[in-house]
Amino acid sequence: MPAETSTQQLIARRNRLLGPAYRLFYEQPVHVVRGEGIWLYDAAGKRYLDAYNNVACVGHCHPRVIEAIARQAAVLNTHTRYLHETILDYAERLLATFPAEIGQVMFTCTGSEANDLALRVARTCTSGTGVIVTRTAYHGVTGALAELSPSLGLPEPTAPHVRLVPAPQSAGDETGEIFANHVRTAFADMARNGIRPAALLVDTIFSSDGVFADPPGFLRPAVEAAHAAGALFIADEVQPGFGRCGQGLWGFARHGIVPDMVTMGKPMGNGHPIAAMAARPDLLREFGARSRYFNTFGGNPVSAAAGMAVLDVIEREGLVENAGRTGALLRQRLDALRARHELVAEVRGAGLFIGVELRHGGAPAGQQAARIVNALRETGVLISAAGPGGNVLKIRPPLVFGAEHVDLLVDALDQALLENSPG
Ligand code: PMP
Repeated sequence: MPAETSTQQLIARRNRLLGPAYRLFYEQPVHVVRGEGIWLYDAAGKRYLDAYNNVACVGHCHPRVIEAIARQAAVLNTHTRYLHETILDYAERLLATFPAEIGQVMFTCTGSEANDLALRVARTCTSGTGVIVTRTAYHGVTGALAELSPSLGLPEPTAPHVRLVPAPQSAGDETGEIFANHVRTAFADMARNGIRPAALLVDTIFSSDGVFADPPGFLRPAVEAAHAAGALFIADEVQPGFGRCGQGLWGFARHGIVPDMVTMGKPMGNGHPIAAMAARPDLLREFGARSRYFNTFGGNPVSAAAGMAVLDVIEREGLVENAGRTGALLRQRLDALRARHELVAEVRGAGLFIGVELRHGGAPAGQQAARIVNALRETGVLISAAGPGGNVLKIRPPLVFGAEHVDLLVDALDQALLENSPG
């Protein structure tokens, strides 16, 4: 059967069976059947340079992770109401990557569950309900988090306990104070409306807002403002975590702050569904005194083995250093495209998390961004776009991305920009 026909048939079947809420990537969706390292392969055998998938952080189908999952699955898989060492070994190893204040960790299956749990802890410990998130934030799929994820498309007005603040646009040294002022204003508005604050919840690299990473440290005044208002600070590390920012394992560390709670997921099991919420023990003491927690699949021995293998590979293959080194090279090469293409307004990010903002005549160039993302897909390079105007190319490859992949990506983008410039 020709590949075109089978793709159309798969799309029709999918729509019939899964309904209309799902969205596929690309005008011509990709039917992937195999992955290896930095490469994905479609049903026709065409290979794609994966410059987008952060879940497969140590590369698609890494043999060490597969082996760890298979070995544990062949022996035992249960849950956290039985004793088992693997989860404790993994918890110790994971907690060692955090500042000393973050002393305990609870396991879930998804980033959404981790954020949902963090929210419950925050509300229990503050007796408040109010939460501040950024204007194009995404934090998850549960009912509570959909209210805190305006990028999903929220009803207007938003829920009474939610306040949206603008993402921290790059404004040099002023960035932190400007962002903190928005946060203070939002807390003041809650107070005027009799809403007690519970949390400031941010993705520490502001992925869906369009990738904002600099200057390092800009989050500090906002965290102080949250604490001054009696709220807790939750660092959502689902996207920036596990070394992607090229400096330590966590995005919040670039800002010199210690969160009250940290949530993580996506890359944690290199595709195996494991996620977690790490916190200050005094918060969990209070939560645990009032509530119990059991997540049937969260923290099972197979997941813990997968998580441990991912940390092993990140360490042995020097992937944090690689994210820093290759990320710097990639940003430098992308920045050079600014001189050649008027559309490229700004290149920003940290490590292997990069946003390329496209603007035309001062306005967000969302349509051009979509055309470029689709043109790259045709040439066999996978990226996406983010930001409120969909005009920020989002480049977020597995951490095994090397200099040779930088060449392939930048050359393809150069060509796509040439062919899709507004003229
Ligand atoms: N937080 C952020 C910043 C995310 O990007 C995501 C997933 N895109 C989530 C939370 C939710 O994670 P999950 O899809 O595993 O529930």
